[in-house]
Amino acid sequence: MDLELLERTLADAGEPSYRAGQAWDWAARGAAGYAAMTNLPAALRARLEDQVPFSTLTVQREAHARDGTVKTLFHTADGRPVEAVLMRYRDGRRSVCLSSQSGCPLTCTFCATGAMRFGRNLSAWEILDQALHFRRVEPIDHVVFMGMGEPMMNLDAVLGACARLPGAGVTNRRTAISTVGWVPGIERLTASGLPVRLALSLHAADDALRSAIMPVNERYPLADVLAACRRHFEATNRMVFVEYVMLAGVNDRHEQARQLVDVLDPRAFKVNLIPYNPTGAYHGSGRAAIDAFRAVLEEHGLRATVRLTRGRDIDAACGQLAGVTVPPSAAPTRAGEDGRAPGGPPGEATSATPGTPRPGGPPGEATSATPGTPRGAQPPPPVPASPEATPVKRSRSARTLAT
Ligand code: SF4
Repeated sequence: MDLELLERTLADAGEPSYRAGQAWDWAARGAAGYAAMTNLPAALRARLEDQVPFSTLTVQREAHARDGTVKTLFHTADGRPVEAVLMRYRDGRRSVCLSSQSGCPLTCTFCATGAMRFGRNLSAWEILDQALHFRRVEPIDHVVFMGMGEPMMNLDAVLGACARLPGAGVTNRRTAISTVGWVPGIERLTASGLPVRLALSLHAADDALRSAIMPVNERYPLADVLAACRRHFEATNRMVFVEYVMLAGVNDRHEQARQLVDVLDPRAFKVNLIPYNPTGAYHGSGRAAIDAFRAVLEEHGLRATVRLTRGRDIDAACGQLAGVTVPPSAAPTRAGEDGRAPGGPPGEATSATPGTPRPGGPPGEATSATPGTPRGAQPPPPVPASPEATPVKRSRSARTLAT
């Protein structure tokens, strides 16, 4: 829901300003539409129905994994594909992985989103509406910005969404923002004082390999990125989670584990090893290699966990978001008017889905995806990107690795 449009519409209608808060309270608590907002006059509900779309997104398709994970493909009003994922855990946690951009300009070689055409930054409302969509299904309590896009390149909108998420049940302390190392964004996040968790997608502990896997490293080299993360830790006293996707024969050797130990201060960083979802040019490391790598880290005092993969059978796992699941003929449905059972009126919670798998480690699960994944629904003519969102070219070595 575009709350600025809502406020303007209410002002034009001569309504008191508290009406916007009433409408937001209903939406944030899972109401299915304006009709449910019984403390708003009926004529006003009808006017809002006409003039303010209940969601900025249209549901195109939803896929359900055996482990309870749900991936939803939305379109923005201008036809940009956006994916978000709901992850259900046996302990009752409900975590939503949100996208901050349609596509991504950063072209990481292991990532299907990076292989898509970059569309544009999402607005705060388009980010928030991904979460509200799942909130209409059931209560949610965690959010990770690990979907399509680099959140630090669209930080104003991401922080705008974070400011509203507590109303939908997700406190800032249960929110994680992941970056590939966009230093200006890390610094701005630190300065904001928002108590969210910072996660860094590292994937290699030396510049040459990291630049080959992630071209952004040529703009912001490892030492600068780690220094920014270190300053974040010192300013916030919250450890930075390091994401490290395990690629067989690329970054999973014993000496590479030692390199990681050398560059990460165990007081400031905790490592999350991510089994690679094998659909592209890389092969994922085997369980034995992952366990051996983790053992080296822990022998040297660096805390490390292995992430439980979620939603792999619906391409919703780490590195698999690419907006590819929608046939052009799929009948669009306006999010929030899709016939779902509402999450209930304010104050009423729905029950969580039982029988879901045991939890993995925080923060969150899904990011983008794999080279070689078919390119998906390309949006209509691109709109100008923000000045910050200049695509980072893949280096020659990166192209070599990806093919
Ligand atoms: S891993 Fe993240 S930053 Fe890199 S291309 Fe994918 S979405 Fe973009």
